[in-house]
Amino acid sequence: MRKKNFKITKKRQHILEVLKGTDEHLSAEDIYFILKRKNIKVGLATIYRTLDLFYQHGIVNKINVGDGTVRYEYVDRKRVHHHHLICIKCGKIMEYTDKKEEEFLKELTKRIKDRYGFTVLSHEIYLYGICNECREKEKS
Ligand SMILES: [Zn+2]
Ligand SMILES: [Zn+2]
Ligand SMILES: [Zn+2]
Repeated sequence: MRKKNFKITKKRQHILEVLKGTDEHLSAEDIYFILKRKNIKVGLATIYRTLDLFYQHGIVNKINVGDGTVRYEYVDRKRVHHHHLICIKCGKIMEYTDKKEEEFLKELTKRIKDRYGFTVLSHEIYLYGICNECREKEKS
């Protein structure tokens, strides 16, 4: 559900710039420290509120990998829909796309609708494992 437009204040602009300027998945704390390093003072509570607002307006995606920290990414129209790979050793979040998986998900959405009368509107997929670098480290 999209809400009405909102004012983009200077503080909100700063937060948006941080998210726009990276491909990484940032938590509210990450954004707080990035801004602090640039000598821009925005309180953590404001960042939380702003991220929530952005989320409600479809400006950011929430990534919740279940480690107690919610991370955000800017929704770029040029950036394709993707899923996430999460390394359980170093916490790195990688992105991947897979056409066949999306086709399967479309079919699944149809079957869910037929079987349960439930309309799937969106999905998130997180695959947990060990990244290449951590596996290399383990070897040595
Ligand atoms: Zn790793
Ligand atoms: Zn992502
Ligand atoms: Zn997908």
